[in-house]
Amino acid sequence: MWVRFWGTRGSIPTPGPHTLRYGGNTTCVEVRTQAGELFILDMGSGARELGASLIASSPSQQRGHILVSHLHWDHIQGLPFFAPLYAPDGFWNIYAPRPPQGTVGEAFATQMSAPFFPVTLDQLTGRVQFHDLKEGKFRIGDVTVSTRSLNHPGPTLGYRIEADGVALVYACDHEPYGKDVSASCRELDPQDCAHGDFLAGADLVIHDAQYNIGEFILKRGWGHSVGEYVVELCRLGGVKHVVLTHHDPMRTDLIIDESLEQLRRTFADRIGMPMVTAAAEGAVIDLGVADGDGCSAH
Ligand SMILES: [Zn+2]
Ligand SMILES: [Zn+2]
Repeated sequence: MWVRFWGTRGSIPTPGPHTLRYGGNTTCVEVRTQAGELFILDMGSGARELGASLIASSPSQQRGHILVSHLHWDHIQGLPFFAPLYAPDGFWNIYAPRPPQGTVGEAFATQMSAPFFPVTLDQLTGRVQFHDLKEGKFRIGDVTVSTRSLNHPGPTLGYRIEADGVALVYACDHEPYGKDVSASCRELDPQDCAHGDFLAGADLVIHDAQYNIGEFILKRGWGHSVGEYVVELCRLGGVKHVVLTHHDPMRTDLIIDESLEQLRRTFADRIGMPMVTAAAEGAVIDLGVADGDGCSAH
């Protein structure tokens, strides 16, 4: 399994000289399995460049599975600009949590309609099939996809993708359930334990960590995580590598560097630490193929 980051920002695209290294596009991650199956995690503004890259590499082979965490703007705003949807032979499956009213297809039809956008869904030249999801598990070829509800305003799902003997979890956007978000997480809420189980054993966890603890206290209820909580859950769950993402628009490259350093200092004496990095646009992570049943049972 192979992963590439095309968007790493939360809330709104944040281009400019202070976000060059970690990136200004909103969240979008490309995942490919050894067999060539393509998954796209969220369709933030990074999806535009991903789409251009797909068209450039294979103009006539446009198909894949788009897993949308939720329908907030920063997770879908790249979809109308995703060129492969306009490829005549394309076939795209788009999955998202079912909205409180209507269907996923109806929600995207609203996004792509006047007065919001000049092209409507039925004008797309490729085939698009929408899937309304809730918590559960399904298979696409030899890939298993599990979903779990996240703590965020409106229906939101995390995705766990298992293939090639490795496991990847994408959890955006999510707020801790419990009050204690410090590095010790002493009073871990049972729902946070269940969230930790969803992450446990993964080779790679890509997780919302929009706020530091000070910001989190002021913005509780906005639906986002802090690095300390994410790293501790991943440490307890034996995760190999955690990538912090959905960077706040106020986070410059320097602030992200400092936050990472602070986290590494905080956890310096802990055993069983995962590798901890911050998502950067253009970064590639090759998870390879594990032998036998190398992926964790879950
Ligand atoms: Zn978001
Ligand atoms: Zn959101």
